[in-house]
Amino acid sequence: MSSTASGKNGTWRNWGGNVTARPAREVTPASVDELAEAVRRAAEDGLKVKAVGTGHSFTSIAATDGVLIRPQLLTGIRGIDRDDMTVTVEAGTPLKRLNLALAREGLSLTNMGDIMEQTVSGATSTGTHGTGRESASIAAQIKGLELVTADGSVLTCSEKENPEVFAAARIGLGALGIVTAITFAVEPLFLLTAREEPMPFDRVLADFDELWAENEHFEFYWFPHTGSTNTKRNNRSAGPAKPVGQVPGWIEDEFLSNGVFQVAQWVGRAAPAAIPSIARLSSKALSARTYTDIPYRVFTSPRRVRFVEMEYAVPRAAVTEVLRELRTTVERSGLRISFPVEVRTAPADDITLSTASGRDSAYVAVHMVKGTPYQAYFTAAERIFTAHEGRPHWGKVNTRDAEYLARVYPRFGEFTALRDRLDPDRLFQNDYLRRVLGA
Ligand SMILES: Cc1cc2nc3c(=O)[nH]c(=O)nc-3n(C[C@H](O)[C@H](O)[C@H](O)COP(=O)(O)OP(=O)(O)OC[C@H]3O[C@@H](n4cnc5c(N)ncnc54)[C@H](O)[C@@H]3O)c2cc1C
Repeated sequence: MSSTASGKNGTWRNWGGNVTARPAREVTPASVDELAEAVRRAAEDGLKVKAVGTGHSFTSIAATDGVLIRPQLLTGIRGIDRDDMTVTVEAGTPLKRLNLALAREGLSLTNMGDIMEQTVSGATSTGTHGTGRESASIAAQIKGLELVTADGSVLTCSEKENPEVFAAARIGLGALGIVTAITFAVEPLFLLTAREEPMPFDRVLADFDELWAENEHFEFYWFPHTGSTNTKRNNRSAGPAKPVGQVPGWIEDEFLSNGVFQVAQWVGRAAPAAIPSIARLSSKALSARTYTDIPYRVFTSPRRVRFVEMEYAVPRAAVTEVLRELRTTVERSGLRISFPVEVRTAPADDITLSTASGRDSAYVAVHMVKGTPYQAYFTAAERIFTAHEGRPHWGKVNTRDAEYLARVYPRFGEFTALRDRLDPDRLFQNDYLRRVLGA
């Protein structure tokens, strides 16, 4: 939980440093009963309630001036069911702890995002995803949920039990209740071979459909101001495992990906005019490499350079056009962008407010290093994304309102109707939810 900044004068701060809040009080329940009691007491006191994970969202989705519920004491594995191939975990469990515990049991999730610092409930509540041709977000791997609703009662749901709650609550935005436990599908631990390879931007766009179709997990990073990308293809492998060796691993992951990158960000901040030259150098610093390892060691890696991010899901068929427009915009604007643009995919899923709900999707993420002005770049990028009916990641910077979101989510009304039923008095409301879901 070290990355959840907090504490000074009662001020809570997110990982990206762009959101702060001053909750009236903080509670760290150690059981579902204690959590339900905290919810009831907040309602009696006329205070709003918000559970927080590790504060890795870049939006104010977790912010509250009411009661902030902290996850630290609601952690751990409740049980593994090898017949059903599921694991049930307490909602505050960090993904890292889940991944390590599963690996020890010879099990794994199917797909995951870039890091594993977040809590399971925080990550799934905003639709955290990696990249996949068939396999979707972490929330799409949920088989069952337990939550405390606004009246302090415990509600469980799955495909068979309260299916209308299950459809929405897997990506609940913290709006339907406080999640207390999650049951995930697991599978026997497997190996993935990662092939990382620099590739010209024009070639990636020209071959995008093939690169996507030929790989279980395809993604790439484009370095703005250059025609260069770094591609990553992850595919299941029969082995043997060939982890990134200790020294090359350190050089690639710590020195090149984080160390050199950090220095490049400092230089870029001090002298923005130098950014295009730095970008050309940085994009050349990475070389091709192949390694084979268990899933979380291939999917995730540390992110030591702090940043602020916007990410939109667009229809997969539109992504090459979106990227061409983004490149033209960056070239014409005079913007100086030192952070790579990340591109991933997800298949359509059946979760009401998933960014991939009912739609094969591609994700385009833009970043700026923490502390630098990001508004001009993000505004320009968001204009492109929304022109393609983009859906913003719920946990990443966006300016959308309920009217726009109701247009791009065919099942938007289904979610808000359930919210009206489960939280009629808006106990779980905050400013962000008021904007994106309506009052
Ligand atoms: C370095 C970095 C890398 C990232 N990589 C990715 C990535 O690869 N893919 C991706 O999609 N996203 C990524 N993200 C975004 C991140 O995964 C999401 O913002 C995620 O929601 C953060 O989880 P958290 O535990 O920090 O939750 P928080 O940000 O603290 O909270 C998120 C939401 O979950 C709610 N919540 C938390 N706990 C509960 C609970 N028990 N019950 C109900 N609601 C709850 C909060 O109220 C809030 O609405 C990244 C972010 C960072 C900073």
